[in-house]
Amino acid sequence: MNACPTHGDLLGGYVLGSLEPAEMEEMRVHVAGCPHCGPDARGLGPLPGLLDQIELADVPPPSLSPTIEEAVLDRFARERGPNRPARRRRRLPLRRLAALGAACAAIAVFAFVLLGEDEQDSHAYASAKLAPLVAGSTAGATAWAEDVPAGTRVRLRARGLPAKSMYELWCVRGDGRWVSGGTFRAAGDGRADAVLTAAVRPGDYHVMVVTRHRGGMPGPQLLRGRLRY
Ligand SMILES: [Zn+2]
Repeated sequence: MNACPTHGDLLGGYVLGSLEPAEMEEMRVHVAGCPHCGPDARGLGPLPGLLDQIELADVPPPSLSPTIEEAVLDRFARERGPNRPARRRRRLPLRRLAALGAACAAIAVFAFVLLGEDEQDSHAYASAKLAPLVAGSTAGATAWAEDVPAGTRVRLRARGLPAKSMYELWCVRGDGRWVSGGTFRAAGDGRADAVLTAAVRPGDYHVMVVTRHRGGMPGPQLLRGRLRY
């Protein structure tokens, strides 16, 4: 959020075009002269256009946890609080909160897309599409593997998993050994977006498997895929 003492809480809504017409006009004039809002608005300017271009199927909906949302709103209220002129020292109207929420969600999606492209295009040495092993399952996942000092960092995006359960990612080595990449949990909508680390090196392993979490031993297998180096 930006540091503008008077109009910071309107900026997100302004950039997304979701304010009332009078406020849009007020912001248009304000942004032109404000040292805080001007640069921020220019930085965020391409956001709505980019969001329109994203195919929804490619991007899981941004899920801000209630804790993160509260933290953002708390910080926002704190930063705004003491310096705010009296006329603005009232509770944020609902539609402003909605605009702020939309702006935060939009920024989350934006960061997510940048991060995703970055990892897929620049750093990943291999990727895998994991398909279901259970008859009738519509679950699936994509994994990207990146070389890090501790071994391999795996970014895993999964969907269609039984909700709120714990899962474990395994890298199956050429010699048959299963190396755990750690555990992750699926959200209430069956999606998961996890960053895990496994002690394997490029070329050591050719298969990734997602199992139910069983604590140390591979549980029942749900998804399996072959690495494409
Ligand atoms: Zn300003």
